[in-house]
Amino acid sequence: MGVKLERIVKTYYDNLAAGKITARKCQDCGAVEWPPLLGCNTCGSTNMEWIEISGHGKMIQMVMPSPITQRPEMEDIRPYCLAVVEIEEGPVVNVMVRGVNRKNKNLVMEKMPGVPVHATIIPRDGYDTVIFDLDEVPEVPKKAK
Ligand SMILES: [Zn+2]
Repeated sequence: MGVKLERIVKTYYDNLAAGKITARKCQDCGAVEWPPLLGCNTCGSTNMEWIEISGHGKMIQMVMPSPITQRPEMEDIRPYCLAVVEIEEGPVVNVMVRGVNRKNKNLVMEKMPGVPVHATIIPRDGYDTVIFDLDEVPEVPKKAK
């Protein structure tokens, strides 16, 4: 990893530790890169500036993890689904979204695409990382007996 990229990664984690989710905005074309990259993925410019992002977004695709893709190190954050989220500021990312389980997944599915989610900073193994949560977790109505 180059020195410049290392510095970007460090700044990103320092910001997370301070409770801020930051991205890099291209000063030439306006594209926002998150997680932050050295250069702009859209136009190739390296004229990038730090911005804080809201963390709000919309889930545009979701799949429940199969036993095969279930990652043991993610045991403590279950239930979650694997999702494609479009962040308010523009980036479209593959993330984990908490709050979706086998019982309520159909209720969530009915509102797809565009289910509102937000980013949450969680500590993991000595550093902070970003995970997404449903803005509203649908309650499954209890079956009448
Ligand atoms: Zn650009």
